[in-house]
Amino acid sequence: MEKQEERAKLVIVYHPDFASHGYPALRDRVAPAFEELRARGLLDREGVRVLLAKAVDERLVAEVHTEDHMKGVQNSGYYEVALLSAGAVVMGAEEVALGKAEAAFCFVGAAGHHASREGFWGFCYLNDVALALVHLRATAAVGRVAIVDVDPHFGDGTRDILGEDPEVLHVNFHSGYTMKEAHGPHNLDLALPYDAGDTKFLKAVEQALITVEEFSPEILFVIFGHDSHRDDYGAFRLGDGVYGEFARRVKKRFPSRVCYVLSGGARPHVARRAIGDVVEVLAE
Ligand SMILES: [Zn+2]
Repeated sequence: MEKQEERAKLVIVYHPDFASHGYPALRDRVAPAFEELRARGLLDREGVRVLLAKAVDERLVAEVHTEDHMKGVQNSGYYEVALLSAGAVVMGAEEVALGKAEAAFCFVGAAGHHASREGFWGFCYLNDVALALVHLRATAAVGRVAIVDVDPHFGDGTRDILGEDPEVLHVNFHSGYTMKEAHGPHNLDLALPYDAGDTKFLKAVEQALITVEEFSPEILFVIFGHDSHRDDYGAFRLGDGVYGEFARRVKKRFPSRVCYVLSGGARPHVARRAIGDVVEVLAE
């Protein structure tokens, strides 16, 4: 009899091309963060599996983005790494949805939350979470999904694609930008001051998690950008210890069926600590 594969605590989806071919602002942090996970012994820990990312199927991309959008991405020079990045998120989400893992952490070489149906900017080319959701609905009978985007930049692409979906809750941290269109039934925008520190951030996290709990999703996506750190390029001035605390609070309410998707962040020393601490919590 074939041995049943044991359910993993955590799958980490990675590809070395994220570091070598990723978008320049995002790629320098990728290999140091992955090496940090190795140095902490997290890659070999019992219950942790590492998957090599595969490119997402272009037919799936065509279900979310227009033909013009795809042509634009093809001409950007980042098409391959965008397919691979979105592929990582689809894989991680699938592992979680099928119950093969309690949680997933997906590395990327290009981000997703600024990619709308027909438009891309801000180091984002394909909306990875929207693609994963379409895939899960078609293959894993997943309907209701919550997205908590703690990247300090407004996730306008995600809002454009999923904002009016009655089965999607989109909780969006940002530093003041507002988007008038696509305000559907389940959107929550949490504006924090540009210089918000750990206390304000964690207070907003509690509000976000209570809202998610009330919504009762089948899967929770966390769009995780460490550009919110005081040494990185985005708004907010978060400190070193806050990302581990954030992950603990998420895990307390949602111990499984959670898929982390890496988003903004450039600085290797920030990435090492932030990603290392989050993955450490997920692997516990
Ligand atoms: Zn960002």
